[in-house]
Amino acid sequence: MMRIKIKALLENPQIGSEVLIKGWVRTFRSNRFIAINDGSTINSVQAVIDFEKEDENELKRIATGASIEVVGNVVESQGSGQSIEIVVKSFNILGDANPEEYPLQPKKHSLEYLREIAHLRPRTNTFAAILRVRHAMTFAIHEFFNNRGFYNIHTPLITATDAEGAGEAFQVTTMDLKNVPLNDDKEVDYKQDFFGKETSLAVTGQLEAELAALGLSEVYTFGPTFRAENSNTTRHLAEFWMIEPEVAFADNNDNMDLAEAMLKYCVQYALDNCKEDLEFLNKRLQDEDKSKPQIERAGDLFEKLEFVANNDFERITYTEAVQILRNSKPNKKKKFQFLVDEWGIDLQSEHERFLVEKHFKKPVIISDYPANIKAFYMKLNDDGKTVKAMDILFPGIGEIVGGSEREERHDVLTQKIKDQNIPMESVWWYLDTRKFGTVPHSGFGLGFERLMLFVTGMGNIRDVIPFPRTPKNAEF
Ligand code: ATP
Ligand code: MN
Repeated sequence: MMRIKIKALLENPQIGSEVLIKGWVRTFRSNRFIAINDGSTINSVQAVIDFEKEDENELKRIATGASIEVVGNVVESQGSGQSIEIVVKSFNILGDANPEEYPLQPKKHSLEYLREIAHLRPRTNTFAAILRVRHAMTFAIHEFFNNRGFYNIHTPLITATDAEGAGEAFQVTTMDLKNVPLNDDKEVDYKQDFFGKETSLAVTGQLEAELAALGLSEVYTFGPTFRAENSNTTRHLAEFWMIEPEVAFADNNDNMDLAEAMLKYCVQYALDNCKEDLEFLNKRLQDEDKSKPQIERAGDLFEKLEFVANNDFERITYTEAVQILRNSKPNKKKKFQFLVDEWGIDLQSEHERFLVEKHFKKPVIISDYPANIKAFYMKLNDDGKTVKAMDILFPGIGEIVGGSEREERHDVLTQKIKDQNIPMESVWWYLDTRKFGTVPHSGFGLGFERLMLFVTGMGNIRDVIPFPRTPKNAEF
């Protein structure tokens, strides 16, 4: 007999038919009711056994976490909470789970505890829901770009350029760390290393995406990104996934339109396709809210998602943002940790949160930042002091997207590279695109896990990626 997945069974139950299901035991009540889940849906199916007919030793093996296959008849359910159940004809335990040792019990575990047993998290309702939403968001992103004629580009994960110049990259080497070869100047001799030069894991795929866009017009990357930033926040991972579109013949306004459309598309996709999982996650949030003071409450997840899907984002310039912040209550009352007075400061997350959560109460796109707080490749405005950058800030998240129009003028870009002491020999190929057939172009980076935080309502980025990589943590 062919196995039927629980999702398919519940969506189209054939009352009276015989089915084979396989999954993991969630609960076993009254020696009679087995809740079985196979991960295809948040819902478990109830299998009912006649314990008087079964072997006692076999019955004992039906425990939370055990894997099981069941053959039985589909009937309308007697109990409330489910429409159908399965009357068991025969069952077979595929793998035992000793209740004395199995770390997951049929009760609510803390997210902190679950992080310590991340190898078993996919067996929980919460993480299975998050992983299904993660899949849906991945699919939505590819669909969004495919519908618009973008090509997906695979950019290298090992790179010899440090584009952001931030010095937060992981080194890649095959050298023997106990016996590192030195040159005559007593510096590390990377010529003897695997690639013959210093290499690291990519902090972005942007530069290579630009090369592809300047031939294919519209491309995007969707891959892992690595940053050795030792900031233990709820918004940063050492390994995260980033979506980076790059569009030829597009200016920074087109760039904002694209990013806003993409975010709305993803949120709407989740509303349309992940209803049951989001309902489950929302219920979790509402339960948690009950024990929280008013200002810390997450609020209703669906209201938040629908608001973003259906309302235009606020668009302001950096200069306008500084003006608002300077005159704001928390600034005047010295409530900000970093007070805002002079034009040119980098906005801190407390400032971003004020603008999004208190002032505008909606997503905000800030554009035209001071040149000296942004990367070298961003296009200089005619004022000579700001660049065509744009960051998108989301409620509860902060920065979700960072992007810009790229500097396409060969002479201006060369000067900026010199000013920032970026070694010319590591970016000669990037400059070549400005030398030959250059065009205006723009792009941005969306942090996939930040989008996941927003869509699921989860509070910690470690809980929206299957196996998080953070400082001092690379288990599993
Ligand atoms: P932040 O100020 O939040 O550290 P950033 O300015 O370093 O962000 P970018 O370099 O512009 O971010 O990267 C593009 C996007 O990638 C960000 O908008 C964010 O969504 C995401 N991102 C950046 N760093 C991380 C990280 N360590 N973990 C997860 N996502 C990240
Ligand atoms: Mn950062």
